[in-house]
Amino acid sequence: MKKIAVFTSGGDAPGMNACIRAVVRTARYNELEVVGIIRGYEGMITADFLPMNSSSVSNIIQRGGTILKSARSKEFRTLEGRAKAAENLRNAGIEGLVVIGGDGSFTGAKIFYEEHGFPTIGVPGTIDNDLFGTDNTIGYDTAINTVVEAVDKIRDTADAHDRLFFVEVMGRDAGFIALRSGISVGAEAILVPETETYIDQLIEKLRKGWERQKSSSIIIVAEGDDSGGAYEVAEKVKARFKHYETKVTVLGHVQRGGSPTAADRVLASQLGKAAVDALLAGRKNEMVGLINRKIAFTPFEKAIKHNHQINRELLNLADVLSM
Ligand code: ATP
Repeated sequence: MKKIAVFTSGGDAPGMNACIRAVVRTARYNELEVVGIIRGYEGMITADFLPMNSSSVSNIIQRGGTILKSARSKEFRTLEGRAKAAENLRNAGIEGLVVIGGDGSFTGAKIFYEEHGFPTIGVPGTIDNDLFGTDNTIGYDTAINTVVEAVDKIRDTADAHDRLFFVEVMGRDAGFIALRSGISVGAEAILVPETETYIDQLIEKLRKGWERQKSSSIIIVAEGDDSGGAYEVAEKVKARFKHYETKVTVLGHVQRGGSPTAADRVLASQLGKAAVDALLAGRKNEMVGLINRKIAFTPFEKAIKHNHQINRELLNLADVLSM
């Protein structure tokens, strides 16, 4: 293998740049040519290729977003789109790919391999931490820290006014961000898609807090919770529990941005290097992750289909400590 390409795809996540840097530098260390593909699969179809060297990735390890841009490509979902992408890669002499993204990006990579045979290694880059085959995805730790910083500020104002705050965090299908940030901020309750939400129980909990003169309460709600999100659950609670003034904050896209934490930078560096090493060793069609601090490979098929289970012990911990 003489030449590889790296690209970011799907939702961006802090730490993607640190990963691009690791891929480019490891490739150059091994005397491989490396190009960046701009806007993921979309750039593959339009042949938007950027030759890169070690200095192309200087001074990016600390930056959020992705210097290669990301996109969601409709055309890549078609046979014709993928054929065009393959032709462009062949014309550019590209023999291997590193895709940094989430399960959609890996689904695309798997289909592309089956049709056109480009060896591809996936690196999990998504704030949601919802991929099977790695303890943490790149961007997850940063997103949690962003939530914690914001909720600490909300707690100050909640406390000053005896308020009950419902804070909605990202997580359409998974409650990982909600759970870890909720424990970190000492939330009174954490509502996640993985468990059913009972309004009666929630109100009972708030009532107990009120009886022991708690001056404020924070409820963390994952956007995909079955209660319907922070606004809906706040309405339901407000109708039956009027001791506090009730407020809702939806954190939204601030959770995607910002400088990656040290943990995300290290993870991104490890996985980026491992992805290039894997291509050189002849591996393909796999996601590289870190399990119990060791590099581990999971076939795309499995990484996509299997669910990363939420930690029930942490859910229980949150429940016990919020009494
Ligand atoms: P995130 O988890 O942050 O949303 P993701 O990688 O899951 O990231 P998607 O938008 O689902 O993001 O997928 C990224 C791109 O991968 C899509 O825009 C599309 O180009 C490609 N892709 C996804 N699914 C398929 C598929 N079934 N066939 C071909 N390409 C696909």
